[in-house]
Amino acid sequence: MPKDFLQNAAEYYDVVVIGSGLSGLTAANTLAKTGRSVLLLEQHYQLGGMATWFKRRGGHIFDISLHGFPVGMVKSCRRYWTTEIADSIVPLKHIRFDNPMFSLTTTFNRDDFTRLLVEQFRVPTEAVTAFFDAARGMNFYDDQSTSVRELFDRFFPGREDVIRLLMEPITYANGSTLEDPAISYGIVFSNFMSKGVYTFQGGTDRLIGLMKAELERNGVDIRIRCDVERIHVRGGRDVGGVEAVTVNGRTIKTSAVVSNANLRATIFRLVGEEQFGADFIEQARAVRLNNSSCQVYMALKPGEAIDESCGDLLFSSTAPLFRTEALLSRDVTSRTYSFYYPRTRPGSDRSLIVSSTNANYRDWADLSEEDYQASKQDLIRTTLDAVEKYVPDIRAKLDHVEASTPRTFEHFTRHVEGASFGTKFEGLAVSRAIPQQIAGLYHAGSVGIIMSGWLGAMNYGVIVANDVDGFLMRANPSPLRERPGEGAGAQAETDSCQEQSKANQSQTALCDGLPTVAPAARHGQETMPQQRAETAPQLVKDASTRQGARSG
Ligand SMILES: Cc1cc2nc3c(=O)[nH]c(=O)nc-3n(C[C@H](O)[C@H](O)[C@H](O)COP(=O)(O)OP(=O)(O)OC[C@H]3O[C@@H](n4cnc5c(N)ncnc54)[C@H](O)[C@@H]3O)c2cc1C
Repeated sequence: MPKDFLQNAAEYYDVVVIGSGLSGLTAANTLAKTGRSVLLLEQHYQLGGMATWFKRRGGHIFDISLHGFPVGMVKSCRRYWTTEIADSIVPLKHIRFDNPMFSLTTTFNRDDFTRLLVEQFRVPTEAVTAFFDAARGMNFYDDQSTSVRELFDRFFPGREDVIRLLMEPITYANGSTLEDPAISYGIVFSNFMSKGVYTFQGGTDRLIGLMKAELERNGVDIRIRCDVERIHVRGGRDVGGVEAVTVNGRTIKTSAVVSNANLRATIFRLVGEEQFGADFIEQARAVRLNNSSCQVYMALKPGEAIDESCGDLLFSSTAPLFRTEALLSRDVTSRTYSFYYPRTRPGSDRSLIVSSTNANYRDWADLSEEDYQASKQDLIRTTLDAVEKYVPDIRAKLDHVEASTPRTFEHFTRHVEGASFGTKFEGLAVSRAIPQQIAGLYHAGSVGIIMSGWLGAMNYGVIVANDVDGFLMRANPSPLRERPGEGAGAQAETDSCQEQSKANQSQTALCDGLPTVAPAARHGQETMPQQRAETAPQLVKDASTRQGARSG
């Protein structure tokens, strides 16, 4: 008999969270801490979504998306997770660039970038200062029609080398292009520039293990290998309210659903377009997916070392100029390497390299099995050739090597077309508008540049959890349950949640400030008024609160 992964699950939960990416995990944890009963359903056999890892024979552990995130992770992990998690976040000291235009090493923060731009690139100090101030001063109330290209042309006209330095890491980090709104670039760039790039010591497996333990402490019912097939809406289209999910053939009732699945999969596969208004569906259809990725994972033999002068993160390219199309091309010219020294996992003697490139799903999706395997081997071969420049004799030092492609990411995370960073920026407004269409239905996960990446996904989970909590409070204004043995502690937690909620208002305002998608005429407006803070613009423009609103 197949194992029942829902054994002893309850008939009803206040909230069902679909997917255990960093957004889903954080939303589940935040809601459980306010006393809600939470069921977390993950289709994969391990938690984490893209924040994941895999093990190979010989004791090698490969991280998939642990390459770097902004310092804001420390604060978010301390607030919404645990001190132990926050204290394990450490800076990456050596970020390298190597391309036909320049080679340099940087700590990747404002001071060091200013030094490089002035001394090495010979840009006037005033232009550098003005650029940083403009990027730092951006918020969602700014003009969204200015493109990244226009922003660069304003401060660094004709300087392809400067554009490359400023843009290449961000394109790698979230697939953004020169045609995207400058605002989305400015916010993410400033996040990194505030204090450089950070990583999690101990690896993704340790992080997710600590998160799982915290979820269990807070009473979240966690179920893996639970593939949600359907989100049910009560009474059909015009009454509108979420009532249950079907998972592994079983229907579980709920008052609210947070879907951490891909935005398009949530709307079109899990709910069904017939449940939404026509205008909303039109705008949902227009949301573009982000690109996917290829990676090559290289484990060195036990005890074999990599010279630390390679850096922690190396943006390498053989393309003469920076071009987004070149970054996505099957004919790979740009690779970003993460070098994992033994200190990544203290106590280990292992050195690993992960090479990442952005990739188009269609370039891989339609290949025959034979061509697919051949292309993967080709990817490995060309990557090893390229690594040779930084780690001589790499082939002789290797214990294990393998590759992943957009098909791999699609398979493991169910992201439509294996999108690494969910959707382009327009996905955020659609994601935020879902509860106006169906009361009690929320989406929290990578949408656009600001709400994706480790920090963005995590912060979006908190924002949505606060929305869900407000919705449940309005639907049933009875006092929150005390968790066994917590008594007064639960009240303290409620207070602290309200504080968090206040602290997060700038983030919420940031979302609410977006153009609303498909007027919320049909559903939920009475039962679920949107949390639209009248003071939103003031909050967002207040520099002291904006730091919290920024994510990776
Ligand atoms: C190659 C690569 C490198 C990256 N590098 C970095 C980096 O260096 N720094 C950084 O900050 N970010 C990086 N990212 C991005 C970052 O990992 C993601 O943006 C973030 O982890 C996404 O979190 P999420 O909450 O949106 O959910 P996801 O991680 O997308 O998880 C969604 C979850 O939902 C589950 N799910 C989907 N459908 C169902 C269903 N029907 N039923 C049950 N479960 C379901 C999936 O299995 C998955 O676990 C990288 C991503 C990739 C792919």
